[in-house]
Amino acid sequence: MKHNITLIPGDGIGPEVTDATIQVIQAAGIEVEWDILQAGAEAFKKYGRYLPDELLESLQRNRVGLKGPITTPIGEGFASVNVTLRKALKLYANFRPIKNLPGVKTRFENVDIIVVRENTEDLYSGLEHTVVPGVVESLKIITAEASTRIARFAFKYARRSGRKKISAIHKANIMKLSDGLFLDCVREVAKLYPEIQYEELIVDNTCMQMVLDPLKFDVMLLENLYGDIVSDLGAGLVGGLGLVPGANLGDDCAVFEAVHGSAPSIAGKNIANPTAMLLSAVLMFQHLGETEKANRIVRAILAVYSEGKVLTSDVGGTATTLQFADAVVHHLVN
Ligand code: NAD
Repeated sequence: MKHNITLIPGDGIGPEVTDATIQVIQAAGIEVEWDILQAGAEAFKKYGRYLPDELLESLQRNRVGLKGPITTPIGEGFASVNVTLRKALKLYANFRPIKNLPGVKTRFENVDIIVVRENTEDLYSGLEHTVVPGVVESLKIITAEASTRIARFAFKYARRSGRKKISAIHKANIMKLSDGLFLDCVREVAKLYPEIQYEELIVDNTCMQMVLDPLKFDVMLLENLYGDIVSDLGAGLVGGLGLVPGANLGDDCAVFEAVHGSAPSIAGKNIANPTAMLLSAVLMFQHLGETEKANRIVRAILAVYSEGKVLTSDVGGTATTLQFADAVVHHLVN
C-alpha cells in the first residue's frame, strides 16, 4: 500500500535529517507519495505566508505529516509556526518517548519515560501585551476541556501499552487556579483507571528527581511549557536532542517530528544526528500500521548503535549525517 504523507523538511538541520530519513524509508521498502511543502521563513519567500494554506490543506487531506524543525525568531518576528500548526490542526497531544540507545554512554541505563505534553494552550497561547512601558503581561490559558482531553489521552495510552504509573507535573502551589484546574481534571480521569498508579509532583522537584533517578518515572503528564522543558531535560538523560522522537496527535491528523529544533550552529555541515527524525518516522509508520517495516528500521538503528562504529559527533562518533543513514541502510538490506 502506498501512503500519502505531507513532508515539511523545515530549515536549519531539517533538510539534512529529512534527506537521511527518506533514504532509510526507501531502503525499508515503504511506499510513500510525498507531498513536499514548506513552512516558516522558507514558505514566506514563496507564498508570502509563514504557514501557507496549501500546507494546512495537504495535512488535512493526508491526515499524516512528517516535519523537520522550523526556526522561530527569538524575542521578535513571526509567531512560532510549530505552535500555530499544532493549534490549527488540533494536534492536542505531544507524545515523546525517551529511551536509552545501546552504546550511548549516559549516567543512567534503562531510562524509559513517555512524556505526554498538552500541545494547544498554556503560556503558548501567544497572548502577550504591554500593559504600560516596562510592564508586559503573558496569558497562561488552562481550560478544563484541554486538560481533561490530554489526561484521557495519557491514561488511555498507559492502559493500552501496559504502563504502570502516571506522574502529573504541576506548580499548583503557586498557580493555584490554572495548575489547580489542570490537576482537578487529571484527578477525575485518574479515578477511571484504578490499575494505574497516579502521583502528583511539583515541577521543580520533578527536575531534581529526574536527574537523580529517572527510573522512577514512567508516563509523565504535563501542561505545554513544563512538557517542553522536561522533554529536553529527558533528552539530555539519554544522550541528547539528536535522539528523541515525537508525535503531535489529534483526532483527525498526526504530525511527527523530533523534539529538537533547527540547531542553526550545526546546520549545513552534514553532521546533525538524524536518529530523532528517523525514530519520529518510525512512530509515524507504526501509526499507519506499517509495524513490521517500522520495527525493521528500529532494529537497524539499534544495530548501528550497538556496533558503535558509525555514529555522529553528538554521541561521540565522527560520522556524517549521511554516513549514519548509510550504515542504517546497510543493516536494513543485509
Ligand atoms: P535546538 O534543539 O535546535 O538545539 C539545541 C542543541 O542541541 C544545540 O546544541 C544543537 O546543536 C543540538 N542538537 C539539536 N538537534 C541535534 C541533532 N539532530 N544532532 C546533533 N545535535 C543536535 O534548540 P535551540 O538552539 O534552542 O533552537 C533553535 C531553533 O529551533 C529556534 O529557532 C527554536 O525556536 C527552534 N525550535 C523548533 C522546534 C520545532 O520545529 N519543533 C523545536 C525546538 C526549537
